[in-house]
Amino acid sequence: MISDFVKVFYLIKLINYISVVKQNYLFTPIDYLKGVGPNRADLLKSELKIFTYEDLLNFFPFRYIDRTKYHKISDLENTNSYVQIIGKFIDFRHSDNSKNKRLISLFSDDNGEIEIIWFRGIKWIEKSIKINLKYVIYGKLNWFNKKFSIIHPEIELLEKHNKSLKNNLLPIYSSTESLLSKGINNKLFTDLIFNIFDKSDNSFKENLNRRINEKHNFISKYEALYNIHFPKNQKLLSQAQFRLKYEEFFFIQLQFLFKNIINKNKFKGFNFSKVGSFFNSFYHNNLDFELTNAQKIVIKEIRKDFSSNAQMNRLLQGDVGSGKTIVALLSCLIAIDNSYQSSIIAPTEILAQQHYNSITNSLIGINLKVKILTGSTTKKQRDILFKELRNGEINILIGTHAILEDKVVFKNLGLAIIDEQHRFGVAQRSKLWKKNTTPPHILVMTATPIPRTLAMSVYGDLDISIINELPPGRKPIKTVHRTDRKRLQVFKFLKDEIKKGRQIYIVYPLIEESKKMDYKDLMDGYESVEREFPKDKYQISILHGRMKTEDKTYEMNRFKNGETQIMVSTTVIEVGVNIPNASVMIVESAERFGLSQLHQLRGRVGRGSKNSFCILMTKERISNDAKTRIKTMTNTNDGFKIAEVDMNLRGPGNILGTQQSGLLNFKIADLIKDKEILDIAREDAKILIEKDPQLKHIDNKEIKEEYSRINKNSILWKHIS
Ligand code: ADP
Ligand code: MG
Repeated sequence: MISDFVKVFYLIKLINYISVVKQNYLFTPIDYLKGVGPNRADLLKSELKIFTYEDLLNFFPFRYIDRTKYHKISDLENTNSYVQIIGKFIDFRHSDNSKNKRLISLFSDDNGEIEIIWFRGIKWIEKSIKINLKYVIYGKLNWFNKKFSIIHPEIELLEKHNKSLKNNLLPIYSSTESLLSKGINNKLFTDLIFNIFDKSDNSFKENLNRRINEKHNFISKYEALYNIHFPKNQKLLSQAQFRLKYEEFFFIQLQFLFKNIINKNKFKGFNFSKVGSFFNSFYHNNLDFELTNAQKIVIKEIRKDFSSNAQMNRLLQGDVGSGKTIVALLSCLIAIDNSYQSSIIAPTEILAQQHYNSITNSLIGINLKVKILTGSTTKKQRDILFKELRNGEINILIGTHAILEDKVVFKNLGLAIIDEQHRFGVAQRSKLWKKNTTPPHILVMTATPIPRTLAMSVYGDLDISIINELPPGRKPIKTVHRTDRKRLQVFKFLKDEIKKGRQIYIVYPLIEESKKMDYKDLMDGYESVEREFPKDKYQISILHGRMKTEDKTYEMNRFKNGETQIMVSTTVIEVGVNIPNASVMIVESAERFGLSQLHQLRGRVGRGSKNSFCILMTKERISNDAKTRIKTMTNTNDGFKIAEVDMNLRGPGNILGTQQSGLLNFKIADLIKDKEILDIAREDAKILIEKDPQLKHIDNKEIKEEYSRINKNSILWKHIS
């Protein structure tokens, strides 16, 4: 009975399998690949999101080593680099004195010796490795106890190694500790991928069109995939890389172009044709400074969008302190002049509260209802608020993510503004679209300046405005680097500044729930600050993510009102906080912060007319990357320059705010290094869409299929005309 059941089960599986294979060999589930058992299949799926043959083929090597090149032990120098050595294991010993058992062997070539260390699989290693036979080992070089060593290298008998040379360039795949410990290593990847090719018929479905293939002289899809994994030679590898990078860029660019077309066609926008009394009376009576030219230009751009009959989707980039908030408020007033509601969404409660305070203050004398909605708005307040929102009494709603919830229903939301966009994802932005049948105009603001090419790619569906000047009278913030040895001098400096009436931020890295890290945590810091600045003379505020909202607000207000001179805090104050009298920013363990975070933190000072300072405290010895970051900070205040350095240090995929967008997780392409390929791909995509906007032509069938597959459900062809 049971066995019949099992038979039927497998029969169904087999039928599925055959039909899938017929459809497209590459869509075969990874479970069916020779060499992948159920355990490995699970791991590949959960750890690497590899579900099909195609996914595995699209798991590209991150580098290649020339297998015909070997290192001599006596020439080794760079730790952390990967090395390949021919030699013999000359002895084995156990080391039990530490907590971990380990097996240590000496490996020798004719020039020297190196230690090889294993923590796992010790018995098996001892049994299978023969002393005095020639092996090839490959692994990452460590420097420990004044000796070079390699932990868990890949090992192959020289004789076998020479035979197995499928080619000279050995692909290297990235892996994780947990995969490695389960035997999913480089060799396995190579074997598995080889098995895919082994059973294929030397052709894969094409995904571009003839015109493009001919224009760029692309090798076939099959050859490209084959050579990316098993390069027959350097030339074919380069050709494979060129094609695959192009494909990635091409399909992303198509996506942006389609989105743009859809936005322009499908989403008719509210027409805010007039600028009325709210805007005008605010502008003439309440605004106590002259807008900068850049601010004026941006307002013009927004007004143009407002009256264009299409929905606005605009990104406003402006460095910290450049005055984005006032642009947001003025835009809200135009919406209100046209009888629509507007909303400002901030990433943190502190920031939402600050916007609420400053906006209600600046609107004094103007008859508008502004309310705030955050996670800590009580049920009772909510009920009232929801009612007022639905019947249109509330003109501006300020708040956090809470606003995005479906329960929050406006009478007629005409404009939605997202502040510090880099803290939000694309998904959240799209939620706003659904607040009305006609989507509101959308303005997203960010202080994370990203170079223009990158912006186009990350926010390709948005129009971009830039505020490229600071309000007049700002003095550049003086930034210095100090190590712990200079701490007393730093304290003395702080006391002098406080005497002059200034206020000070001291920021510590995360307090992300007791990570076992060796740097000071906030509480230690707070205590040492208290010791140095005794209660009888100084008042200190403290602020961190785990505090209750009331307490946060209380502390924030004390500092804002000048009742406390020092604010000890974590990075909760990183974005947006605006307290002009605070003129010194101390960043503790600054080596632990990324550049954009440091720049954001520094942006908390320099907001008044007084001289401001940023002091980056680090320990004596810091990594080279940390040195570069600190040096960049002390050299420049220019957010764009800082963003460039950041991108060079970390690669564009890691730039704040781009991860969530999911658009920069390129598998093989690199936005900076492959910019030329990006340009070509973008141009081709444009031409394609101009000629055949619905991809109806038979020549474009493959492109359409691939596109639809990548962007499941995300496109409604009927909207493209
Ligand atoms: P950010 O762009 O970082 O959000 P804010 O909008 O918080 O900057 O503005 C920083 C400070 O500059 C605020 O105190 C704001 O009132 C002030 N400000 C904005 N625009 C001007 C201007 N044109 N002239 C003078 N001060 C301005
Ligand atoms: Mg701001």
